[in-house]
Amino acid sequence: MATVTPAEALPENPFVQDIEEELPSPTSLVVFGGTGDLAARKLLPAVYNLRRGGLLPQKFDVIGIGRRAGDHKRFRRHAHDSIAEHSRTGLDDDTWKTLESRLEFLQGDFDDPKLFKELAERLARHDSRGGPRQRVFYLAVSPAFFGTIAKSLASVGLGAGAERPTRLMIEKPFGHDLETALALNDEISSAFDESQIFRIDHYLGKETVQNLQVMRFANGILEPVWNRRYVEHVQITMAEDIGIGRRAAYYDSAGAMRDVIQNHLMQLLSLVAMEAPVRFDANTVRDEKVKLLRSVRRYTQDEVPDYVVRGQYGAGWVGGEEVPAYIREENVPDDSRTDTYVAMRVEIDNWRWAGTPFYLRCGKRLSRRVTEIAVRFRPVPHLPFARADIGEVEPNELVLSVQPDEGASLRLVAKIPGQSMYVRPVQMEFKYGTSFLGDSPEAYERLLHDALLGDATLFTRADEVEEEWRIIQPILDTWRAESNGPAIYEAGSQGPPEADELLAVRGRRWRQI
Ligand code: NAP
Repeated sequence: MATVTPAEALPENPFVQDIEEELPSPTSLVVFGGTGDLAARKLLPAVYNLRRGGLLPQKFDVIGIGRRAGDHKRFRRHAHDSIAEHSRTGLDDDTWKTLESRLEFLQGDFDDPKLFKELAERLARHDSRGGPRQRVFYLAVSPAFFGTIAKSLASVGLGAGAERPTRLMIEKPFGHDLETALALNDEISSAFDESQIFRIDHYLGKETVQNLQVMRFANGILEPVWNRRYVEHVQITMAEDIGIGRRAAYYDSAGAMRDVIQNHLMQLLSLVAMEAPVRFDANTVRDEKVKLLRSVRRYTQDEVPDYVVRGQYGAGWVGGEEVPAYIREENVPDDSRTDTYVAMRVEIDNWRWAGTPFYLRCGKRLSRRVTEIAVRFRPVPHLPFARADIGEVEPNELVLSVQPDEGASLRLVAKIPGQSMYVRPVQMEFKYGTSFLGDSPEAYERLLHDALLGDATLFTRADEVEEEWRIIQPILDTWRAESNGPAIYEAGSQGPPEADELLAVRGRRWRQI
């Protein structure tokens, strides 16, 4: 494939707006949790890289809010060090100088109404420096504070009905189950209008995930075969080789189903399987995704064991290093039944997909890190060659690789040169790294920039989150009532053998991780 520069590639692509041209209006960005880990690793570097790429307006200020004692100077030093450590482009002094004086700190407790009065005054001061700004509130905090902060902002006139564009960006997890997600949506929507709420699933900010839509809807050859008649099954995998690190406090009460399937994999599923949106705008795209999620079959408690497998990693070896079992990780109880692996067969009851299963799989401490979507096509109906001559013929497979080797490959069958008719699979490949020059932005850069522009296409709407929970809630309920826990798999392996049985019909098998 010829190498093209992004500048050449952009105009031909109807889905990629010319973002270099688009500048958000003057903004005050308020980061609740500005001194936390997410701000240090993702948000502050994203702000820096947007500034460096010329994608922020001149009038752009950041207020970081935290509980610890501090002042502007200390916050700026913290931001400097965080950016230097985590920015994908490093940190250059010229860009930093344009940003440094725009970073402010506000100390306070989220439960204290005084904090919100002070914030309103601070924002009014920004407005007095050269005209009214839009306001973007980013909640990089524990979900326990989402409702409180939203309501407190509304109580000082910074929520629904504010006299200028105002947005609320919310991190995952959005709810612990269906009931809490519904309650949270109610609570937040009492303070902000749905059109102001930007729920983040950072997977949607990844280039390859956006490319999925371009692949599907800007290439005419795929649509005719993108259905039950030609697709035998689909596998969507998000495998990690790492364990839970120091995240036991969160992870042990969440597990893989809540941490990955409920959000990231449900999003990938809906993008792969949804109907073509008429336009690439927020509500049109999200309407199609919700429609797809509504057609996902809900399992009864009796059906769950036939369709879903949960696992938990035991001890083993990963990357040449001996690693402990999940229950031996720091702060994990010895008798934890938390799932660190889930494999699930999803049935979509609509005309396009009825009878074509989608297999979702995610897990920690597997043999390697990979996120991919593999579309396995049906075998040819008849082979005009004597099978003994040509050997095994694998069906075609399209693999969209989300990470780490971003790209796509199509498996075809080709004849091995020579006198006999032996064949073997070959790959037609496209790789981001070699096909496009230039660095892809981080997911958080894209999402922050979209929110500054008021474009909610890559954010999850309330009804979308609720449908995601409706799909997995019966499974969580079944697991809670079960006497047996997750199947134990060896760290560094492909996952529990029970997951192989889930797939083992008609010669199906999991792709090697
Ligand atoms: P964190 O490191 O614990 O940071 C929490 C932040 O909130 C700190 O700035 C802290 O300020 C502030 N804070 C906590 N309680 C407060 C209170 N009562 N009043 C005022 N400030 C308070 O957490 P995090 O890892 O950044 O995670 C934040 C959110 O992002 C969570 O919902 C998490 O699930 C989500 N998330 C995180 C990541 C990640 O990579 N870290 C990735 C995806 C999603 P002080 O430090 O000054 O006390």
